[in-house]
Amino acid sequence: MAEPKRRVKTPAQLREYRRKRDFAKTTEPSGGDARGRRARASKGNAFVIHRHEARNLHYDLRLELDGVLVSWAVPRGFSWVPSDKHLAVRTEDHPLEYLDFDGVIPKGEYGAGTMMIWDHGTYETRYMGLGEALEAGEVKVVLDGGKLRGEWHLVRTRGEKDWLLFKTRDRYAREEGDALFPLAFDPETRAPSAGRVRAMRAKENVAPFADAEWLYELDFAGRRALAIVRDGDVRFRGADGKRLPAALPELAGELAGIRCRDAILDGVLVAADDTGRPDGKLLAKRLKSGDTAEVAYYA
Ligand code: MN
Repeated sequence: MAEPKRRVKTPAQLREYRRKRDFAKTTEPSGGDARGRRARASKGNAFVIHRHEARNLHYDLRLELDGVLVSWAVPRGFSWVPSDKHLAVRTEDHPLEYLDFDGVIPKGEYGAGTMMIWDHGTYETRYMGLGEALEAGEVKVVLDGGKLRGEWHLVRTRGEKDWLLFKTRDRYAREEGDALFPLAFDPETRAPSAGRVRAMRAKENVAPFADAEWLYELDFAGRRALAIVRDGDVRFRGADGKRLPAALPELAGELAGIRCRDAILDGVLVAADDTGRPDGKLLAKRLKSGDTAEVAYYA
């Protein structure tokens, strides 16, 4: 009996993707076998966002549709602020295995540079399916990812390729200057723009509630502070944006060792008394006079 022919089926939409790449040189998937873990587990509505440090740093948003990933390159990344309208350039469809792809595309190859999975999850479109929405030039998509949540709109502006991406007003949207963590980044330094970031402040007058989408934490008697890590250099800033007077070398040493070049952490500085209870007065003393009380940082 003849062996059944085993031909890897490649969706026609992947022709441009394959034409641009030399699979002897790049480690990117060639498409057609959906080998990735996420690709296999997908129920047809997966999304992934890559942070692509190519010649120009950008983010690639990819939405699954009929066995491929419809893709846009977003040079300025994502913003929680609805009035921030960011250009999103439609690029060639990518194979489903790209849901799992993470790696360095070698120099000289198409898209050379580091491709890192920045977020992933599932999506739903509103009012119509993704295929129909693409044709209409307006995609209303609700993302359920690790970083991104809520509804975003993609609107085609010019030709086939130029779209605008922005957040819609929902419970996840934020106002200008209200950024909890910097989705917006400085394209020049390729670093989170620390100047715009403020420590998140608690609000009163909210009635207690239970919601699985919220996490609750103890409010320690301490001082809210941002830790800004840059190339091994660590600075602390108070919730007012001002630099803290004390250097806190024991914390700076530890934070300098975290495995990234640039980071902004939001946390609370706490000094404990002999019984282990947070003591605001001890902390104030340490920050003012360089007292030796040990300080912990809850990020
Ligand atoms: Mn890209």
